Amino acid sequence: MITEKSKELYSKALGFMPGGVNSPVRAYGSVGRTPLFIESAKGSKIYDEDGNEFIDYVCSWGPNILGHCDPAVISAVTEACGRGLTFGACHKGEIRLAQLIQKHFPSMEMLRLVNSGTEAVMSAIRAARGYTGRDKIVKFEGCYHGHSDGLLVSAGSGLLTNSIPSSAGVPVGYTETTLLAKYNDESSVERLFDSDGGQIAAVIAEPCAANMGVVPPKKGFLEFLRKITEQYGAVLIFDEVITGFRLSIGGAQKFYGITPDLTTLGKIVGGGMPLAAYGGKREIMECVAPLGSVYQAGTLSGNPAAVAAGIATIEQLEARPEIYDELDKKSAEIERAMRSAGLNVNRCGSLLTAFFTDGNVTDYDTAKSADTKKYAEYFGYLLENGIYTAPSQFEAMFVSAAHSAEDIKHTCGVIENFR
Ligand SMILES: *Cc1c(COP(=O)(O)O)cnc(C)c1O
Repeated sequence: MITEKSKELYSKALGFMPGGVNSPVRAYGSVGRTPLFIESAKGSKIYDEDGNEFIDYVCSWGPNILGHCDPAVISAVTEACGRGLTFGACHKGEIRLAQLIQKHFPSMEMLRLVNSGTEAVMSAIRAARGYTGRDKIVKFEGCYHGHSDGLLVSAGSGLLTNSIPSSAGVPVGYTETTLLAKYNDESSVERLFDSDGGQIAAVIAEPCAANMGVVPPKKGFLEFLRKITEQYGAVLIFDEVITGFRLSIGGAQKFYGITPDLTTLGKIVGGGMPLAAYGGKREIMECVAPLGSVYQAGTLSGNPAAVAAGIATIEQLEARPEIYDELDKKSAEIERAMRSAGLNVNRCGSLLTAFFTDGNVTDYDTAKSADTKKYAEYFGYLLENGIYTAPSQFEAMFVSAAHSAEDIKHTCGVIENFR
């Protein structure tokens, strides 16, 4: 595979952006390669500047559930752009998108459109704190909720209640109110409520974790979160930035049948444009300005071109409900191929991860036990064989409606032969 042009472009980019990238995972740091520069993408394929073609299973980290350049989405965006890129004022599209979101996420009785998943989560947490008048939040090790200060916490110390920032530049004070629990471990949550129950504003969780690789919730875990938050008057936030419109058209909450108090959406909801949303119970959302005293705003929020992409994407998903069964079947085939290559697989619908671990992965500790060198080998092998996946062990593989039977067959053949 020739990657001369990507190499040349990367060396230029290094002079301008930290690590040559605008988001760290793109630097290919953990797979020891030079990042590819993408020239274009269409359907299930992505093309780099050297003219290499790949079957794309990154799908921009989730948004492209319809594949690249879905004609309905592109024409909706093009039409919207012709009417002006941004107004900073009300427009009809906002109502239409809000209606569509609410139809599929009835728990989002009121909602706000924002520009990124990070912003959606940050705002949802602020609303939960404003509503409850409490400061503390519970998050799970290995769950990612964007890069806002209070959420950049790892449990490096192993002391669950000792919240040490996992990024420089985050004052300890910002993370002191973030309590850490273990995913799929009910007793770790119970302990926090035992000691701090009256001060916990919210529990935030990815209802199916997908940012430490895919780690589905154990049976009963989400039910437990629903119950304990109700018992203590804390807000349950499902961060559905990845799972929303993916596990089902109604996200993980429909898939698992558990209703949170607040939900955050991103990725698919913006159809490939910078758009995200947060919302939930009316009485919580009524705390948000100008109705209430929780401030949250945005110059580009509800951007008309982004809104058009979101509407067109959801309308396509509504018009083609068979997509979800097909995604499940295609993903199951890939899972089978991974297993026949002896890999450990976690899969939830069209999200899957092949883990280079000895045993099953059920939480952050077991995920971290993965052999990342072996993953780097696997990543390079797939790439050399025309398959573009995440340059990190701790991400999901995303299957889209655009992946053809032939794409899947080729992919499975390549994976089965990995040694
Ligand atoms: C991607 C992601 C975010 C952050 O969204 P950005 O748009 O990258 O800011 C938050 N939560 C989850 C679960 C995500 O997967």
